[in-house]
Amino acid sequence: MPPIGPSTDTVTGAEVVLAGLDDEQRTAAQAVSGPVCILAGAGTGKTRTITHRIAYGVHLGAYVPEQVLAVTFTARAAGELRGRLASLGVGGVQARTFHAAALRQLRYFAPRVLGGPLPGLVENKLRLVASAASRARLSTDRTSLRDLASEIEWAKTTLATPEDYPARAQAAGRELPFEAAAVARVYESYESAKQREGVLDFEDLLLVTAFTLEEHQDVARQVRAQYRHFVVDEYQDVNPLQQRLLDAWLGGRAEVCVVGDPNQTIYSFTGADPDYLLGFADRYPDAEVVKLERDYRSTPQVVGLANKLIGQAPRRKGLPGLRLLGQRAEGPEPVFREHPDEPAEAAAVAARCRELIDAGLPAAEIAVLFRINAQSEVYENALTDVGVPYVLKGGERFFERPEVREAVVLLRGAAAGGNEPGMLVPTVRDVLASMGWVEHRPPPGGAARDRWQSLAALVDLAVDLVSENPSLDLAGFVAHLAERADAQHAPTVQGVTLASMHAAKGLEWDVVFVVGLVDGVLPIAQSLSRPEAVEEERRLLYVAVTRAREQLTLSWSLSRNPGGRRSRPRSRFLTGLAPESAPTAPPARRREKKQKVVLEGEAGELFERLRAWRSQAAQSASVPAYVVFTDATLQAIAESRPSSLRELSGLPGIGARKLELYGEDVLATVSG
Ligand code: ATP
Ligand code: MG
Repeated sequence: MPPIGPSTDTVTGAEVVLAGLDDEQRTAAQAVSGPVCILAGAGTGKTRTITHRIAYGVHLGAYVPEQVLAVTFTARAAGELRGRLASLGVGGVQARTFHAAALRQLRYFAPRVLGGPLPGLVENKLRLVASAASRARLSTDRTSLRDLASEIEWAKTTLATPEDYPARAQAAGRELPFEAAAVARVYESYESAKQREGVLDFEDLLLVTAFTLEEHQDVARQVRAQYRHFVVDEYQDVNPLQQRLLDAWLGGRAEVCVVGDPNQTIYSFTGADPDYLLGFADRYPDAEVVKLERDYRSTPQVVGLANKLIGQAPRRKGLPGLRLLGQRAEGPEPVFREHPDEPAEAAAVAARCRELIDAGLPAAEIAVLFRINAQSEVYENALTDVGVPYVLKGGERFFERPEVREAVVLLRGAAAGGNEPGMLVPTVRDVLASMGWVEHRPPPGGAARDRWQSLAALVDLAVDLVSENPSLDLAGFVAHLAERADAQHAPTVQGVTLASMHAAKGLEWDVVFVVGLVDGVLPIAQSLSRPEAVEEERRLLYVAVTRAREQLTLSWSLSRNPGGRRSRPRSRFLTGLAPESAPTAPPARRREKKQKVVLEGEAGELFERLRAWRSQAAQSASVPAYVVFTDATLQAIAESRPSSLRELSGLPGIGARKLELYGEDVLATVSG
């Protein structure tokens, strides 16, 4: 305990913070100084413990908030940390990704150490890699270029130079697109091209920041005086480059708290190494090491499935068993569903989302998780069809969307014109209204809905901030937006989250659909030849299932396209978890039956005509009927009898694509 005498008030604040933790978590939180390591499974409160530990330290007076740097790996996870700290009443703590933290420091020190402003950043390596490859006389295509870029990234994150690369790649069992020596030549040529153009890539940001701290005493002194306490979440996924930066920040001090779960290591293909986590106690023999077992996130049913799944992995040497003990009340059993094809799988998920939302669950409490981003589109279409809003991967690029940029410019202009206290929310609404935004009236589907949602998120943010700080004015709001944009901290947009399993790390939802579980997708085809790569895929599924608080559905489809051969085997990881033959009962169809009975009279008659039209349309396009329109959509059409495309477009399940394909036909059917 630090020798600082806290006032009675702060003791109360600190005690309140501790009251939210169990005994083991409290032990970790109370160790406010010196090295701390929490090694524990999913949902056991690691992130909760570090945020409470920071809040406790601040309340106690042991930490100056601005001197705490909490780092993690994705912008969303950093946002999650900031959100949790804010709700504990702690402001001023820096919670960032490694990249964002490095970028900020380097931008500040660039004039001193690089002799000018921060060089431009390479957003996408492919252009430079392509010209480096052609200089190395390699003939490449899109895939091999992407592989080359990944190899360069791997080399840089594992601190391998072009000279080291061939031996290191071989030792690590990398699968290379070309001979190692050729890859090394491309790597070297890529580095010189970058230097000639005077630009930095993302790895350089970390590397240059670390070098600067190692080489420039004055900069190191200043940075180390600024940051005195370090916390790393998801430490199992730290790579050698990030570790080097962390060591440079620490400069030999031991004020570091790391938390992680070796069973959630999902970035080793990019150079992450769980040995930093597992070896922490050896590197810091006086570390407080805490193990947590109680899972507070998920029902015992979800926890049971997670334990079984990870229990089937071969035990790694030196890895402590991290079985989870479910703490929550009983919930529904996880559901397994097999579908004929991907649109059917997506339609079933979308229909279930619709039901849950209609029953009162906020859309933001639902997530659909998939292995690769390309799987997202079919879900975007299916959700649009049933009128359910969605958010892609949490919109890390929120502040770069054109409508958000425009709104920020307008808000800034309005702020320059004067700031009336107490008028923040109405003013924000007025400014957005001048862009054509109408509250409570989201346009159906597509880009227009995305735009509406981005702007709605800005209003929601203003409302939230005012509830925390009623005197916040427009200038304060604009400054807050600039800060968030800098940290890539997107506000919450109401909608079902569509995210890759990688992007879902650290997050949680009441209802989670893990979709597309076929062999060749999960485990992904490229991993199949290497057992350790397949194990990483298993951990990825473990990450995905442990995101669910209450309801978990795992599904797969036998063919990709409607009418295709139903030959895809379900994921091997489901063996022993799912019943041998899982029921095929897409809720979409159950719903159809229910609705058939509801319609009577004229609407019923039109509904039947629409169905007849639909089966023809479906036949000529060789797709199942519900891919054309679901019964819910036909019902809405039959009830509202739209007479124009505009009216039709206002109905649930009618996106721009459907309007174009079927709009005229539907209107003709309605008018008889
Ligand atoms: P992951 O490995 O997935 O990142 P984690 O170990 O970081 O998980 P948290 O996200 O911190 O787990 O906690 C999971 C959930 O359990 C959160 O909703 C958190 O608020 C809740 N929780 C954790 N500890 C407690 C506790 N002692 N009492 C009540 N709720 C808790
Ligand atoms: Mg966590």
